[in-house]
Amino acid sequence: MDTSRLKAAAIGEIDTRRHQLSELSQKIHSNPELGFHEVKAAAWLTQYLEENGFTTELGICELPTAFRASYGQGKPAIAFLAEYDALPNLGHACGHNLIAVSAVGAGLATKPAIDQCGGSILVIGTPAEELYGGKIKMAEKGAFDNLDIVMMVHPGTHDTATTEALACQGLEVEFFGKAAHAAGKPEAGINALEAMLQSFAAINSLRQHIKAKARIHGIITDGGQAPNVVPDHSAGLFLVRADDDTYLDELKQRVLNCFIGAATASGARLEYKWGNVRYAPMLNNLTLAQLFRQNMQSLGREIQIADPTKGFGSTDMGNVSQLVPSIHPFAAIAPKEVATHSPQFASAAASEAGIQGLLDAAKALAMTVVDLVTNPEIVIKAKDEFMENK
Ligand SMILES: [Zn+2]
Ligand SMILES: [Zn+2]
Repeated sequence: MDTSRLKAAAIGEIDTRRHQLSELSQKIHSNPELGFHEVKAAAWLTQYLEENGFTTELGICELPTAFRASYGQGKPAIAFLAEYDALPNLGHACGHNLIAVSAVGAGLATKPAIDQCGGSILVIGTPAEELYGGKIKMAEKGAFDNLDIVMMVHPGTHDTATTEALACQGLEVEFFGKAAHAAGKPEAGINALEAMLQSFAAINSLRQHIKAKARIHGIITDGGQAPNVVPDHSAGLFLVRADDDTYLDELKQRVLNCFIGAATASGARLEYKWGNVRYAPMLNNLTLAQLFRQNMQSLGREIQIADPTKGFGSTDMGNVSQLVPSIHPFAAIAPKEVATHSPQFASAAASEAGIQGLLDAAKALAMTVVDLVTNPEIVIKAKDEFMENK
């Protein structure tokens, strides 16, 4: 099987469609939609896939804006994931318009390889990455069952073939105290705000003695109503993150102890609720990451394996990576000083560099599929690696 000829065909296909892909990306960028409300984006993406020979199904997993598009049949079944949700007030400040269209472009570009070598290619539309962990719900409904490989590329400020993402769970906390005149009769009050402040102090003390990559951060959403009233209610939202699931479980208990201790000390009653989605850490498949890296390098891009000691958030792709051999590389579209989730990054997601990142990502994804369908032993190697590290 002629790998280099099929790769050249994939690159040619993306170049031919450059204008269409760029237009689709700009259209999604100019019409930002929040998680689970990505009605236009999901319709445009599925329509384009349908027009180009894919069989599509919109509204899978009981999520109206999730979709599945497929071409070809049988094994290996390789999926590209599309994200297309925007951020409140910031629009496409995470560049998910580029993720969506790179997945679609890569899907179309792999058709000649699938025609020649067999197997199937899927583009799976995964809504609400930012706020609700859409892939976690989709995983529960079996959306990633029976897949052999899953890949997606996220825009960023560096080209990296791997991504470091932490296990993460949210925590909602409330303290209930007793209101009283803060000057006239403070001794009659139980101060719910003080309980919250003590919790922050306890967490700050704890933070010195936790593992390097773990993170605890939070905000106060209710700190009382008036300075002359002892607050009878306070509320906060927190996130706890860790390198692996076991340490996350341990850390969650230690963080909770900070709140329990503050409740005891203040006399305020504690109520709490852990978030109903839990992000899993990213399990990078290095067999796939190396292939992707070589393909990006062949397009003239400098791309590294990410430094595992820095730069990590959490993503619902982590949950997918625990089920199927996966990669979630980054393609740079902005200089390193630009922060994601900023207005500058939103501009970059509609810039020339943004489109270039999209096209290169689509090419490298499609070329990686060519590597996989022409060398079935690499699929076995990726799966063996996955089983070993799981
Ligand atoms: Zn984001
Ligand atoms: Zn993102």
